[in-house]
Amino acid sequence: MKILVTGGAGYIGSMTTAELLAAGHQVVVLDNLYQGHRAAVPPEATFVQADLADRAALARLFADHPDIDGIMHFASYTLVGESMDKPLLYLRDNLVNAANLLEYAVEAGVRRFILSSTANLFDDPARMPIDEHERIVPGSPYGESKFFIERLLAWFERIYGLRYCCLRYFNASGDTPNRGEDHDPETHLIPLVLQVALGQRPHITVFGDDYPTPDGTCVRDYIHVVDLAQAHILAMESLDQFGSQVYNLGNGSGFSVLEVIETARKVTGHPIPHVIGPRRAGDPATLVASSTTIREKLGWQPRYPDLEAIIASAWEWHRTHPHGYAKE
Ligand code: UDP
Repeated sequence: MKILVTGGAGYIGSMTTAELLAAGHQVVVLDNLYQGHRAAVPPEATFVQADLADRAALARLFADHPDIDGIMHFASYTLVGESMDKPLLYLRDNLVNAANLLEYAVEAGVRRFILSSTANLFDDPARMPIDEHERIVPGSPYGESKFFIERLLAWFERIYGLRYCCLRYFNASGDTPNRGEDHDPETHLIPLVLQVALGQRPHITVFGDDYPTPDGTCVRDYIHVVDLAQAHILAMESLDQFGSQVYNLGNGSGFSVLEVIETARKVTGHPIPHVIGPRRAGDPATLVASSTTIREKLGWQPRYPDLEAIIASAWEWHRTHPHGYAKE
């Protein structure tokens, strides 16, 4: 298939692009390079630098590539914390950008769409692990913006016959030898912990140790980015057979912030000092996914279910790219 990957220069989008190419698909990447890195885009992909707010650029893209079979939509503002400070970047821009993309996609006859959605839809889960029947309670404007787009897709299915999957993923993590997590500013736990191991930060601050969890720190479900990428490909390839679906994606086991730091100490051999700080706004105590549906329906199996293997893969990339893509 020929797949348009928006945000294909970003962390998860570039990994998925590489996996799509390896699986024999053709890829067109659209990215504005706001957070993405040109160097992350595999050379075999066609690269278009453009913003989804730029409707003329979208019109050109679909005119240049009238044969796109499906879209994977990663391009987005993605930070929970930022969305609490700048809600309209999320509630307006994420939505408008997705709406622009969908408008041109439907006009061009594209019938398949995979959305990067989020565990931030589940701010108040009644059951753990969280399955697809859990009540949607967005935890932030970021989560709400993804929910808006999920609803938009449901209407586009009903009105235009678009088939879609929403992949609600938990904590994307891990790297490959050629591609890694490189955000500016970095806010995610594993890369920050590894920056301490590299001597780039004196310590890691743990955001709160008074949560109702076994050691008081937040528990998350860390899923390797390559396993996420594989889920995107399976979801795209299964749309014709199963129709539109929503899948939760995680490994199904939770690790606390302190457990992540301890595992990183083991992997890196560095003492990684930590200090306890205040809670971060918007953080639920525990988020663990039930991925039973995607496992049973699509046969998805994580290749890296083990936290130590995930952190080891991230350490390999960070050790060999201590300044990310920028200064290679
Ligand atoms: N976290 C932390 N210190 C940091 C960054 C993150 O204690 O410097 C915690 C955060 O509160 C959350 C977990 O680590 O409980 C994972 O956070 P991250 O930002 O990596 O992903 P999120 O869960 O927000 O998607």
